[in-house]
Amino acid sequence: MPFKAPLSDFQFLLENIVGLDQLRATELFAETDRDMTEAILSEAGKLCAEVIAPGNRAGDEHHSVLENGRVRAAPGFAEAYRAIAEGGWVCVSAPVEHGGMGLPVALQTAINDMMSSANLSLQLNPLLSQGQIEALAAHASDELKALYLPKLISGEWSGTMNLTESGAGSDVGALATKAERNADGTYAITGQKIYITWGDCDFVGNVCHLVLARLPNGKPGTKGISLFMVPRDLPDENGAPGVANALKVVSIEHKLGIHGSPTCVMEFDGAKGWLVGEEHGGMAAMFTMMNNARLGVAAQGIGIAEAATQKAIEYALERKQGRVGGTGMIIEYPDVRRMLMTMKAETFAARAIALANAVAIDMSHATGDEEWTARAALLTPISKAHGTDTGHEVAQIGVQVHGGMGFIEETGAAQFARDVRVTQIYEGTNGIQAMDLVARKMMDGGAAAYALLDEVEAFAETARGTLPELAKPVFNAAENFREATEWLVEQEMQDRFAGCVAYLRAFARVLGAHYHLMAAMAEGGAGPRTKLARFFIKRILPEHESLIAQLRDGAEGLYAMSVEELEAV
Ligand SMILES: Cc1cc2nc3c(=O)[nH]c(=O)nc-3n(C[C@H](O)[C@H](O)[C@H](O)COP(=O)(O)OP(=O)(O)OC[C@H]3O[C@@H](n4cnc5c(N)ncnc54)[C@H](O)[C@@H]3O)c2cc1C
Repeated sequence: MPFKAPLSDFQFLLENIVGLDQLRATELFAETDRDMTEAILSEAGKLCAEVIAPGNRAGDEHHSVLENGRVRAAPGFAEAYRAIAEGGWVCVSAPVEHGGMGLPVALQTAINDMMSSANLSLQLNPLLSQGQIEALAAHASDELKALYLPKLISGEWSGTMNLTESGAGSDVGALATKAERNADGTYAITGQKIYITWGDCDFVGNVCHLVLARLPNGKPGTKGISLFMVPRDLPDENGAPGVANALKVVSIEHKLGIHGSPTCVMEFDGAKGWLVGEEHGGMAAMFTMMNNARLGVAAQGIGIAEAATQKAIEYALERKQGRVGGTGMIIEYPDVRRMLMTMKAETFAARAIALANAVAIDMSHATGDEEWTARAALLTPISKAHGTDTGHEVAQIGVQVHGGMGFIEETGAAQFARDVRVTQIYEGTNGIQAMDLVARKMMDGGAAAYALLDEVEAFAETARGTLPELAKPVFNAAENFREATEWLVEQEMQDRFAGCVAYLRAFARVLGAHYHLMAAMAEGGAGPRTKLARFFIKRILPEHESLIAQLRDGAEGLYAMSVEELEAV
């Protein structure tokens, strides 16, 4: 059975859980009515299932290759990309004034989720263009916007993000790439970037690199970094790709998964670039792109969780072992049920968090309300880290459901497990996301977190009459978590960082339970969503207690063993 787009889940979540109706009440998104949302998701779902997903395996088996300095994509990728571009699916949330549709990020997130289920390697290409479009729209000059945005939005050209260097990974501020002013107002960019996703591509007319570099008078660290648009081919006077710029792909990395996505080492040798934003203001501009990409990467994890779940259920219905339930199908075994229920419940929870994050971003754009901006900022690291952890964990369970066949490539379960692994690493490792949550996102003393917990508790209160068995544990978990947050904001940074991963996961557990409870209530307290909610609240939510215990242990225990003791064998 091929991948099927989970349209009913999206529709249910958008309409009943994350509040698309709030968006419709704003002027900006007044036209996003239910029929339109349904039509868009259903068209995108068709494209993902029928056109994009069939090429996923080819990308894993054939990889992209470097030939005569140019990257040749895996077979079938060019055709699938053309279908994405021609259908207008590269960036549906792009601004209308530059040729986009101006749809909510919530819909973009749902589409990214489905496209990632279909082919993660290929989806990375439009995902990076999306981030670039947002960064250019917010920070570039009118000339750069006029030249690049329509071509990126239509998919004629694609975008990349060039931060990482061999000495500058998580510590972006350590970068050594240099920028020097040219007499004509452009800049010469020199340096090497590593791990650049889709650093070249044979199915677009031009590849537009957004590159972080330092001017001679740039201070050390992130404050001295500037952002530049450095196209592979220099646009001529008509804006068409002209002579080649002074940059090249040096090599493509060999890696664990996403073989269809070329991860490139890039050399810039005095390449011509145009400043985006202010000199030394590059990190602010790049953050626009990274925040967008973080939610996008969350959707990648969730998309893989979805695809892995569908495949596992299909296998569990085919595979017979023993005589269980009269049919012998392994789906009848309690442990297999446990795995499948976990996969479904976790995917739903992570998706709800990511879509709630997207709606907060949209509400912040539409209203300018600071509370929505704070909500979006709070949810971004949770969505990214938890969405991708979920992708990884669910894909691993998917391998287990397949037994030995999970370890054999032909089922595709192994590819999901390999492909999704990187989503926990790129766009800021999940450890860095958790640090962001307990440090920058708590600079308000926990106000945004408490506001969200207020909503969780208020909803649990109203649900108590109908579903007391589910509402009570959700309310109590929110209370425990509130106390943990009160403790956290009083701690030194080192202690916060020591427990940040546990804190983020505990937060996701409480939010996941809240959205499951909402789903059960929306269904009237009976039906499949209520059964799934019960499973999550009874079996998965309790983990928050042990996570909070880890948080409260602080940093001391982590340093109790000396480095020598750690090294000793
Ligand atoms: C397939 C792939 C595609 C990629 N695509 C792109 C791309 O398109 N553009 C781009 O610019 N980059 C890209 N990257 C790079 C990616 O963003 C980095 O790998 C990532 O940010 C981590 O940096 P690093 O690899 O140097 O690891 P390091 O920074 O060396 O981290 C190693 C470990 O130390 C931890 N660590 C590091 N610093 C801290 C800290 N301050 N506190 C606590 N823990 C810390 C990390 O969490 C991690 O566990 C890609 C990477 C891969 C593998």
